[in-house]
Amino acid sequence: MAGATATSGPIGIFGGTFDPIHFGHLRTALELREILGLAEVRFIPCRVPPHRDALPSAGALRLDMVRAAVGEEDGFSVDEREFERPGPSYSIDTLTSLRAEVGPRPLCLLLGMDAFLGLPTWHRWTELLDVAHVVVAHRPGWVMPADGPLGKLLAQRRADTPKPLHEDTHGRVFVTAVTQLEISATDLRGALARGNDPRYLVPDVVREIIMRSGCYR
Ligand code: ATP
Repeated sequence: MAGATATSGPIGIFGGTFDPIHFGHLRTALELREILGLAEVRFIPCRVPPHRDALPSAGALRLDMVRAAVGEEDGFSVDEREFERPGPSYSIDTLTSLRAEVGPRPLCLLLGMDAFLGLPTWHRWTELLDVAHVVVAHRPGWVMPADGPLGKLLAQRRADTPKPLHEDTHGRVFVTAVTQLEISATDLRGALARGNDPRYLVPDVVREIIMRSGCYR
């Protein structure tokens, strides 16, 4: 289960469609960075989400919004590698390419609880723990699975503190509460389509892009 011994601080990987990126994503990333003592968080916007029937907004626009939201924030960066790959944006491919770059350094795949509950539907999901740790942030209304493949995974791999995530490079699951901001990108898109203002739900720079482009009208 344990990976190779870590050579320096863990890197958080926060993937998503970010259609649009909002304060629920940003606050969660910040709190996980603090709770886990991550050296950095990389936001990795997904080009082609494998799990969605509906197509997301144009990738260039979503990328612009993520870049604007992340801005100069200390310890945050945007990684555009999924836009450089053809085909569906599978996390296992992203993590494998990151692993080849960073060597023996912990990688932490950061997930909301809804994303974690869907994990067994992900492409080659059992291999994710061979490359990275999985960190789950509680989200309102979601309950920790006690049985099934995720219950088994938690029984075998769960860490009670962040320490093992620093010592090993991959293979552990850590679950932690973060401040609950019940903001959903789907609800935001709906509200925007009705002509509502997204102020205080997204950073002002993201709001400006949304208003200027009219992308959710
Ligand atoms: P949609 O409503 O379009 O499905 P989403 O925000 O749930 O959007 P993504 O942008 O793909 O979907 O989410 C990226 C990651 O952020 C996922 O791990 C998801 O669980 C997490 N996440 C989304 N919203 C929140 C929130 N309000 N608080 C914490 N985590 C969130």
